Amino acid sequence: MAGKSSRLASGLALSVAAALLAAPGAAAAPPQDKGQAKVPLERQVLPAGDGFASFNGGTTGGAGAGQDRVYDVETRFQLQAALAEAGQEPKIIRVHGEVLGNADAAGNPLTCEDYAEGTGYTLEGYLAAYDPAVYGWDREPEGELEDARLRAAARQKQTMLTSVPSNTTIVGATPQATLRGLSLQVNGSSNVIIRNLNHAAVSDCFPQWDPTDGAAGNWNSEYDMVQIINRAENVWVDHNHYTDAPGFDDLAPEYFGRPFQQHDGSVDITNGSDLVTVSYNRFEDRDKLMLIGSTDSTNRGDVGRLRVTMHHNEFVNIGQRAPRVRFGQVDVYNNHFVIAENARVPFVYSLGAGFESHLWAEANAFTVPAGFDPARIIGHYKGTRITTTANTVNGHKADLRSLYNAAAPADKQLTADTSWQPTARTKVSPAQAIPSLLKKNTGPIFTSSSSR
Ligand code: CA
Ligand code: CA
Repeated sequence: MAGKSSRLASGLALSVAAALLAAPGAAAAPPQDKGQAKVPLERQVLPAGDGFASFNGGTTGGAGAGQDRVYDVETRFQLQAALAEAGQEPKIIRVHGEVLGNADAAGNPLTCEDYAEGTGYTLEGYLAAYDPAVYGWDREPEGELEDARLRAAARQKQTMLTSVPSNTTIVGATPQATLRGLSLQVNGSSNVIIRNLNHAAVSDCFPQWDPTDGAAGNWNSEYDMVQIINRAENVWVDHNHYTDAPGFDDLAPEYFGRPFQQHDGSVDITNGSDLVTVSYNRFEDRDKLMLIGSTDSTNRGDVGRLRVTMHHNEFVNIGQRAPRVRFGQVDVYNNHFVIAENARVPFVYSLGAGFESHLWAEANAFTVPAGFDPARIIGHYKGTRITTTANTVNGHKADLRSLYNAAAPADKQLTADTSWQPTARTKVSPAQAIPSLLKKNTGPIFTSSSSR
């Protein structure tokens, strides 16, 4: 293994340099790209000009790692130990097989009951304590059972929440590599690449009941699959697959008349984070997908940040937030949105125009069932403007903003956003070409040089 690694290392420096020097056009559109194909998966960097993550010197992750900072991991503990050992140094993590987030140091699965043991929390006890018939509707849970829930939740969080330091590349070594029930948090760090992974079943064991959330209360959960937060920047999320399987939302029980929601976002970008490119991922059968900006307040450092490019992703039967934007400039081009008649997650909207948002949606393809009203594609959340151009619905050109406005009341009209124009793009294809172009090119499709 050591011999093989050092032999690889000498050739790598050259090919990384070649990839960095390549013209933006030449480095675009994996996997057909010839320039990057010579660079092993784990050493590849974001192509020049590929979205906002190419700003600010670009996104190289751990591409410059020495051989002693290349890790092969099969368990949650190995993954976290590798990240801790390398710290801020450039490092490459190759994920093999199925890594369980809810697992002990040896990789043995931990259940929600394991986390709760000794904390005093049981779901039955929690439901009895905060049943609105007993506890009422006017305040959030507090007291013995809520304290117990917080203790149990802290144990899960400490186990499956995995903080990713700066200068890191995490890749699946094969298209089968999976993070199951493991949340990746890019918290204030920069220069991170997350690629070629199946990311499944990130689930909060201990949702909190909030009777004051909405008209009928809600169960709220933590743990995004990827959380980019607290001024994190230069992050590339590419060729991953995101699913709740097997615990889909429609299989969740209801308590107090509301679904017991154990999921949060897929890729949430909040609290002043910036310069993110989300490309060639496949998101399937999930509800709240990508929250860009978590509050209308200006005290989270969001103003002038939250710049995100989303291109060549497939959004298959997503409920909402694909994305939902506040403040930031968000370039959404060449994605395929599939909305099926029999989707297990009910469709709410795709493009959410939130407070002070600057959404630019160009040349996206929407595949919708018969009778679907394309005015529903845009969701209004205090936004005032949006640019939509050259998008298609079932292969036909559709002016999404005009369709939305025609159905919206006077106080929710959206004007064209003339304040900016996306610049960092590789190649923009006609929307009509996108469904077939993406068919076999999204999600994990690569194999690293170290597959075994
Ligand atoms: Ca939440
Ligand atoms: Ca979230």
